[in-house]
Amino acid sequence: MKDNYGRKIQYLRLSVTDLCNYRCIYCMPETGIQKKAHDDILSIEEFTEIVRAAHSLGIRKIRLTGGEPLVRKGVITLCRNIKAIDRDIELGITTNGSLLAPIAKELKDAGVDRLNISLDTLNRDTFRSITRGGALQDVLNGIIAAQQAGFEKLKINTVLLAGINDGELLDFIRLTKDAPLHLRFIELMPIGVAKHWKADRFMTAASIEGYLQNAELKAIDGVARVYAMPGHQGTIGIIGPMSHSFCPTCNKIRVTPDGKLKPCLHSDQEIDLKGLRDKALIQALADGIRQKPESHRFGEASDSTARFMNEIGG
Ligand code: SAM
Ligand code: SF4
Repeated sequence: MKDNYGRKIQYLRLSVTDLCNYRCIYCMPETGIQKKAHDDILSIEEFTEIVRAAHSLGIRKIRLTGGEPLVRKGVITLCRNIKAIDRDIELGITTNGSLLAPIAKELKDAGVDRLNISLDTLNRDTFRSITRGGALQDVLNGIIAAQQAGFEKLKINTVLLAGINDGELLDFIRLTKDAPLHLRFIELMPIGVAKHWKADRFMTAASIEGYLQNAELKAIDGVARVYAMPGHQGTIGIIGPMSHSFCPTCNKIRVTPDGKLKPCLHSDQEIDLKGLRDKALIQALADGIRQKPESHRFGEASDSTARFMNEIGG
């Protein structure tokens, strides 16, 4: 269905948990977050019903995110349930990859079409400090297992943090030479923890593009400008939510772990879906789609979400 501004809304992102085994410095508070009561979190059945209702309104693409979606019990059942609603739904997961290796094949068999794996550094020590304790090798094992399980076009999401991992840009680009990996460099957004970060930590899309002088612009893929270096198998995409407004073509809505529909990532506007079923659920989703804001303005207090990124899912 279309929103009030004529945008066709086809993409639903489900944040299936706000919990995570990492505490990335720009995403989660060091102390973690207060665990919500079991009853306040949507069950796997409730998520399934939301997908069924959203599908009846024209949603055709679903992405599971979090927190870390792979810490959520029942996530594989949810994948199977979603594919049972319509096997043509494009189902993706965004994960930190650390828990992927043992279940990559199971996810593939459950119908997951695409995996985006977040990886901000190729250096063990920097990895440990960005994630506050994570082990790089776990994620590398996850990437290998995903390739072996038959996931094609793996995307690697990298948030560039000036002075922390920007020196590795060329190392990341080199990864695309011999492997069909699709890098996505993402501008840091002032949300959650990063809302209070100094401006000099934020790298612009233009400064990232400066490293791609020999690259060829291949496509505009949704919100990414996609480049390839001559002779490289993979691609390099740049996603610049701070530099470019995606609002006119935004086709997404989001649901938080506690069942709030967020028509816009950056707005505090939320519609409670918890406890709703059948027609009432479809009606609430349709209301949320219609009410999707026309655009957002970063940095304005009146136009910025109070939630942390691990609750919304990126
Ligand atoms: N835990 C999973 C992961 O890390 O992929 C899924 C959830 S995480 C919130 C989704 C994506 O959001 C990750 O790629 C992460 O790097 C990104 N992210 C978190 N905070 C961000 C911020 N302030 N600006 C830009 N991206 C952010
Ligand atoms: Fe966890 Fe992902 Fe946030 Fe890192 S970015 S703390 S892995 S939710």
